[in-house]
Amino acid sequence: MPVIQSLLSENLPTPVQQIHESSFAEHGIQLFLKRDDLIHPEISGNKWRKLKYNLMEAQRQGCNTVLTFGGAFSNHIAATAAACRLAGFKSIGIIRGEELQEKNNATLRQASKDGMHLEFISRENYRRKNAMDFLEALREKFGAFYMIPEGGANEMGVAGCAEIIQEANEHFDTICVACGTGTTMAGILAAAKPEQQVLGFPALKGGYFLTNDVLQLLSRANKTASASYELILKYHFGGYAQHSSELLHFIRNFKAKHSIELDFIYTGKMLFGIYDLIQKRFFRQATKILAIHTGGLQGNSSIAERLKDVSQIP
Ligand SMILES: *Cc1c(COP(=O)(O)O)cnc(C)c1O
Repeated sequence: MPVIQSLLSENLPTPVQQIHESSFAEHGIQLFLKRDDLIHPEISGNKWRKLKYNLMEAQRQGCNTVLTFGGAFSNHIAATAAACRLAGFKSIGIIRGEELQEKNNATLRQASKDGMHLEFISRENYRRKNAMDFLEALREKFGAFYMIPEGGANEMGVAGCAEIIQEANEHFDTICVACGTGTTMAGILAAAKPEQQVLGFPALKGGYFLTNDVLQLLSRANKTASASYELILKYHFGGYAQHSSELLHFIRNFKAKHSIELDFIYTGKMLFGIYDLIQKRFFRQATKILAIHTGGLQGNSSIAERLKDVSQIP
């Protein structure tokens, strides 16, 4: 049987680190970063949080194969592959985009090295991934498996992400998190207090659909939001895996100044947004902000391969 204990992190609770900028002091703002990027050397950030209860559930059900879904740069695919290798599960990744079969990137190469079987399917088929007959066909092909939805977006993922806030016992007025599926934000809302405010920064265009998804995930996890919340829709930079040279500069400067690496898809955009909002006096005087570093650094090398202007890479 798989051994979940081998995945447990020694780095809990993850550290909370203050980010000092003279401009913050001017605006009377304090910014702290919760370093979930340090949670595990191979299973970073919120992906570790979301896998924790899912893999425990797979073990409880006596399943030794885990199947999940993701795109070409998916941190969730990378994390699931590594976690399954470490715990002794077989893993299957259903990957969006048949064309990737030939031109693999660093993320998919590593997942494959971690023992994940990669199954490439067309974008049309991928859209049907939650349909009963689609899953039935997968069971026929691969036998019994424990299914984790794309991005770890289920109630077990929410429960794991709630612990990000449960272990940060200092008071913060505002909590900021980058959003893909909204599962991490749902977990944070499940744990945040009524007097707190939660800001989600979608990395995708059309992020306004996300409120519904977040509320649905919360209710599936039998939780409600007592904090106020808002989606900040201005900082997706054109969508997933899109960036401007302004964003790349920001990420490079942030690393030079604070010795903390950010990822291009999620945490870079969120922190760019927070800096911009502070500049625009979005936050009240003396607001204490906690931003979650959800990790995702494994994706940077894949994105770097894709970027044409290599000199822009932080
Ligand atoms: C996957 C990911 C997110 C998005 O998390 P959701 O729970 O899907 O909203 C945010 N940040 C990083 C670094 C990620 O890898």
